[in-house]
Amino acid sequence: MFDNIDFDQHERVVFVNRPEAGLRAIIAIHSLALGSALGGCRMRPYETSDAALSDALKLSKAMSYKNALGDRPFGGAKAVIIGDPNIDKSAELLRAFGEAVQAAGGDYVTAEDAGINPMDIKAISERTAFTRNIAEERGGPAPYTAYGIYIAIKAALDQVSSRGVKGSSISVQGLGGVGLDLAARLHADGARLLVSDIDAKKAELAAREFGAEVVASGDAHKQHVDLFAPCAFGGVLNSITVGEIQAPIVAGAANNQLASSVDDEELVRRGVVYCPDYVINAGGIRATEVQGVAFDHHAALRRVEDIETVLRSIIETARARRLPTGRVADEMARAKIARA
Ligand code: NAD
Repeated sequence: MFDNIDFDQHERVVFVNRPEAGLRAIIAIHSLALGSALGGCRMRPYETSDAALSDALKLSKAMSYKNALGDRPFGGAKAVIIGDPNIDKSAELLRAFGEAVQAAGGDYVTAEDAGINPMDIKAISERTAFTRNIAEERGGPAPYTAYGIYIAIKAALDQVSSRGVKGSSISVQGLGGVGLDLAARLHADGARLLVSDIDAKKAELAAREFGAEVVASGDAHKQHVDLFAPCAFGGVLNSITVGEIQAPIVAGAANNQLASSVDDEELVRRGVVYCPDYVINAGGIRATEVQGVAFDHHAALRRVEDIETVLRSIIETARARRLPTGRVADEMARAKIARA
């Protein structure tokens, strides 16, 4: 584990094995410097346990950085459950995972992520007090995440291209909980939308609702638009795609968009401004309340809106120092964690 390329001086990594409940999980706590480590739990049929470990290590580090730049009183962590959520998930498995979270004594606070929904969190919370507090009737974190991306897009269009959303063309890739909400906001503001999803029905629905043009998902980044918003999957900015991006700005919700730091540098060389994913997709985390504090929707929105200040300062610093935005964001986050 200590030799794993994604190991980044993580505070603690817990391997959970509960065969009677069908549970194999990894809880990676990256940092506790700013408070209890908060991060979602994702369930996926990883091909190998090494792949699951790498995912947990990478995602937990990103959570530390996200929480730090979001000025949240949380450290960073992530849990992964190995299994197919459509086949292997059971109440017993979820409760066993809850017991593992409880055993961490509050150092790890869990939440939903890919493959784990708010109902699953309810089952998990039967066995642990350490789940995050976000109002379920508000639709969970996705609407807050979408609002944060919308705020970031407005700021980036203004700062980079001196444009507003109205009349701008935007390619939205992925029309799930975040992408669809984002597309609705951009449409309401008068943007011209190009939409894509591997689920053709979702793309057609967006086309009807927002008068959008449907493009193939593999072509979403190649469009001659004012902004590309990847809201589907990670690694979308890689050695192949970066050279094909035509938009001057990339700003979307997908986690871990950069395949490597080389791609961060290549984007600068090509004059593309990348809005770091974990900075602008922090709306859900920013909306989250600390344990025991009642959820306040308006206070949550104000915290989400503060993404603009952080993003503008990253873009400004990157310009002044001729550095990639991803690197500038990482440096800022590490400095905050080090100070704590
Ligand atoms: P989701 O699962 O609801 O939606 C993802 C959408 O992407 C689905 O419609 C799916 O069909 C589509 N998709 C999958 N593969 C695709 C491909 N190859 N090409 C085009 N479309 C594809 O997820 P979400 O909650 O909307 O999150 C979107 C992204 O944002 C994810 O990467 C997620 O990790 C990240 N994110 C989400 C949140 C949140 O609050 N939900 C917070 C931070 C980051």
